[in-house]
Order: sequence, then structure tokens, then C-alpha cells
Amino acid sequence: MREGNSVVVTGGAGFLGSHLCERLLSDGREVVCVDNFFTGMRRNVEHLLTNRRFELYRHDVTFPLYLETDQIFNLACPASPIHYQRDPVQTTKTSVHGAINMLGLAKRLRARILQASTSEVYGDPEVHPQTEDYWGRVNPIGIRSCYDEGKRCAETLFFDYYRQHRLEIKVVRIFNTYGPRMHPSDGRVVSNFIVEALRGEDITIYGDGQQTRSFCYVDDLIDGLVRMMGTPADFIGPVNLGNPTEFSMLELAERVLRLTASKSKVVFAPLPGDDPRRRQPEISLARDQLKWEPRVGLEDGLKETVAYFHRLLNT
Ligand code: NAD
Ligand code: UDP
Ligand code: UDP
Repeated sequence: MREGNSVVVTGGAGFLGSHLCERLLSDGREVVCVDNFFTGMRRNVEHLLTNRRFELYRHDVTFPLYLETDQIFNLACPASPIHYQRDPVQTTKTSVHGAINMLGLAKRLRARILQASTSEVYGDPEVHPQTEDYWGRVNPIGIRSCYDEGKRCAETLFFDYYRQHRLEIKVVRIFNTYGPRMHPSDGRVVSNFIVEALRGEDITIYGDGQQTRSFCYVDDLIDGLVRMMGTPADFIGPVNLGNPTEFSMLELAERVLRLTASKSKVVFAPLPGDDPRRRQPEISLARDQLKWEPRVGLEDGLKETVAYFHRLLNT
């Protein structure tokens, strides 16, 4: 396998990707950020453009990519339901064709490659909390399937390139992550609630608000990704990365209202199809193998995120 300093981050102009690029640059790496700006923004990485070790490359990963690098973090894929459902065929293509192209690139270069998979591979789970050996309960034909099944197929491709071509792969299953630089109209629950609260608009809970998620602060997650990439070749995952503290959407709304001192009202709207009822990562594997666990609790993470959106909405 190659040993070198250069890294490709696909989806690098997105929420997680831009934080990852920043972290890798501060670790002294040379970073090529590859993004087609579907949900990402040039603005997310603009402050990195003056760094000589950073390069921004506009490219859609469903098309082949020829360049030289030592490692690849494959994050390209819209992550918010409203965005990945806008062009569902493209979403599946991004996960599947994107994985094939990035694996082909890794194979030609003998580069190590990490896949940003998702807790959505567990679907609406019968096992709680979710462990990596659980195979999941995913509807193959529902409105979330373009994302869930695309990501599942990408995992299959990673494992087959590992078995068939002896590629050095790493697969992480990311659970709900939030923080500064989420897009204000990203559509995910944390950004929606904060933006609505700051604007004094109604906070909309889908369903009865009893469904749960476990929210990880972005800095913790990025540290997990970097640690995973640095593990010995025989540890390939999949490994869950997320914060195991579980909250209902009602509790989240209450916290956001309190932290923003907002007078917004909470209103209810119908639950979208196939919305998972519960989600909580079991992270013993990450604790053992990566010596990793989240450090930032929801209260502190929300404060940072509220401050970010406050600045954004007032500039
Ligand atoms: P995001 O939408 O902010 O970032 C995704 C990036 O990928 C964007 O910059 C987008 O423009 C880019 N992209 C999309 N399609 C592309 C294509 N065909 N070619 C090149 N670039 C493309 O979302 P995010 O939250 O930063 O998610 C990053 C990755 O992490 C995704 O793969 C997502 O599935 C995974 N993930 C995120 C979460 C989370 O809670 N944030 C949870 C699980 C998994
Ligand atoms: N590929 C790429 N960059 C490379 C090498 C390959 O984008 O540097 C793409 C190529 O277009 C191919 C895919 O990756 O379709 C899979 O490559 P692989 O070598 O596994 O398969 P093959 O070329 O034999 O179909
Ligand atoms: N949700 C909500 N109001 C919103 C956005 C989302 O109540 O404005 C709910 C959504 O139905 C889901 C949970 O919050 O039950 C998390 O949604 P998100 O889209 O952030 O992530 P995912 O469902 O992919 O975990």
C-alpha cells in the first residue's frame, strides 16, 4: 500500500467534508477536495483556498476520476432526506457509481479508501441499540431507499473490492451528526429547529415527536473518521460512529427553544414514510479499536451550533 501525504476528500465542500478537509490540513496533509456542489458550497471551503496544500476540484463522482493520491475519504452523497429525495435516481448513482469509480481509483493507485456509510443501513431497526452485526430492516422500495440501499450497495462494493482485489478499505457507519456549517435549509432536524427558533417561526415536529435520534457533534465525528483511517490494515469495519445519548424529537425541540430563548410554537406535521422510530449507536467497537468516544454533549454542541446560525442569519 502507498504511504504518503496526499488525501482526496469526495464531498469535501459539504458539511462533514469541509470540517474533514480543515482537520486534515491542520494535520499537515495535502488535500484535494472533490465536489459537484449538489448540496455542498464553495463557501464552506473558501477559507482553505489560500492554503497551498489545498485544491478544490469540481467533479461528479459518478464519472471516472483520474488523479494521484495516497488516501481517499469517500463522503460524496447528499445526506438530508429532502435533498437525497429531490433526485433519487442520482442519489443511488452517486452512492453506487461513485463507489465503483473511487474504488477503481483506489485499486489503480493501491490507495487506502474509507467509505462514509450510515446508520440508515439499519433502516427502521428491531435491534436497539444498533450493533455492527445487525443486518438491518430497510424497505427496498420506499422513499428513503435511494439513500439506504445505495449506501448498502456501496458497502457491498467495498467488501467485494477488499475480498477480490485486496484493497485496503475502511467502512464507518455514521449516525446523526450536527454542528456549524450545516446548510440553513439543509432540512435536517437540528438545523431546521434552530433556524426556525431563531427566526421566531413555528418549530415543526414530524409525527408525535416520540421518535428518537442520537446526535453527535461534528468535531467528535471527524476525529473518529481520522482515527479509523489510521487503524492497522486488518481493521476494516464496519464500525459505528455516533453519540450514544438518545433523545426524542420533542426533547430536542424543548432544548432548542430554551437555548435560543425563542417564543416559537411547536406544531406537528405528518411523519414522512419509513421514518425510523429509534436510533442509537452501540459504540464498543469504536471504543476498543479506535480508542474513540464522543466528548461533546448535546447541550454544548447545540450552543455552538446556535451561535453559528445566529451569526449566519445576522450577516
Ligand atoms: P452534505 O450534503 O453536506 O455533503 C455531501 C457533499 O457531497 C456535498 O458537498 C455535495 O455537493 C457532495 N456531492 C453530492 N453528490 C455528489 C456527486 N455526485 N459528486 C461529487 N460530490 C457530490 O452532507 P454531510 O452531512 O456532510 O454528509 C457527508 C457524508 O456523510 C455523506 O456521504 C453522508 O451520507 C454521510 N453521513 C452523514 C451523516 C450526518 O448526520 N451528517 C450521517 C450519516 C452519514
Ligand atoms: N476508475 C477511475 N479512476 C481510476 C481508475 C478507475 O475513475 O484511476 C473508474 C473506471 O472508470 C472504472 C471504475 O473506476 O469504471 C472501476 O475500476 P476497476 O478497475 O475496478 O474496473 P474496470 O475498469 O475493470 O471496470
Ligand atoms: N424531523 C422533524 N422536523 C424537522 C425535520 C426532521 O421532526 O423539521 C424529524 C424526522 O422526521 C426524523 C428526525 O427528525 O424523525 C430526524 O430527521 P433528520 O432528517 O435530521 O435525520 P434522519 O431521519 O435521516 O435521521
